[in-house]
Amino acid sequence: MAIITDLSGKTAVITGSNSGIGLGIARELARAGADIVLNSFTDREEDHALAAGIAEDAGVTVRYIKADMSKGGECRALIEKAGACDILVNNAGIQHVAAIPDFPVAKWDAIIAINLSSAFHTTAAALPLMRAAGWGRVINIASAHGLTASPYKAAYIAAKHGIVGLTKTTALETAEEPITANAICPGYVLTPLVEAQIPDTMKEYDMSREDVIRNVMLTRQPSKEFATVEQMGGTAAFLCSDAAAQITGTTISVDGGWTAL
Ligand code: NAD
Repeated sequence: MAIITDLSGKTAVITGSNSGIGLGIARELARAGADIVLNSFTDREEDHALAAGIAEDAGVTVRYIKADMSKGGECRALIEKAGACDILVNNAGIQHVAAIPDFPVAKWDAIIAINLSSAFHTTAAALPLMRAAGWGRVINIASAHGLTASPYKAAYIAAKHGIVGLTKTTALETAEEPITANAICPGYVLTPLVEAQIPDTMKEYDMSREDVIRNVMLTRQPSKEFATVEQMGGTAAFLCSDAAAQITGTTISVDGGWTAL
């Protein structure tokens, strides 16, 4: 049984993949031989250059398709334009932090749309393609916040708990087919977005970089280490392997022990 999977001939569509975790997963699935569809809502030269770079490194076909995951029609159009979708990684996500009475309604709506409803739309469009191909993997990027809560992140936590529920339903609706659906629940991952917050937090609390990381960012991550985008990519590749064919409808935490607390 192959644990390191050969994904040649498979097409992976990864939403929100021009940065961070989505890009890490795209690189790893490309290394395993999958053709890749990168996505975000922008259409910049650098987005297409990113696609060309991965294609050159991994020797696979990589396309960049612009689609705004806050819009249901564009989510479905992304899958239609991809033409094939053996592996669907629902990764696009945003965050906003505010107490519930002050939480801007527009932010609530955007977070539910991008972090949760987009996965419903892409999954609805992708399952018929997976069924026609006779194989499929749905991988939803949830969060430790899909299993636990924190104050001031109501929309994000509602969306991430929601995507864990959607994952289970997707798994049950495909249970007798060679299709699986699982959610990866990362703890704190050092993405460019997180890296960019470190200098401001150092100033705000008058702390060293090490103290900000250990005592502010990683207070709930017992390992006191960030997870990496490469580890997210490796976990996604594992879920595509034959070893994971009977893993469906569950969550895999990659969180340094956060959810064991
Ligand atoms: P990131 O900001 O680097 O990546 C988010 C991606 O989503 C980007 O590519 C962005 O362009 C894209 N995106 C945002 N709005 C979009 C839209 N409307 N349409 C299409 N694409 C859109 O952040 P990240 O940390 O890599 O986060 C990726 C996923 O991982 C998110 O779902 C996030 O909730 C989840 N996550 C991140 C962490 C962490 O610590 N970084 C922890 C747990 C879960």
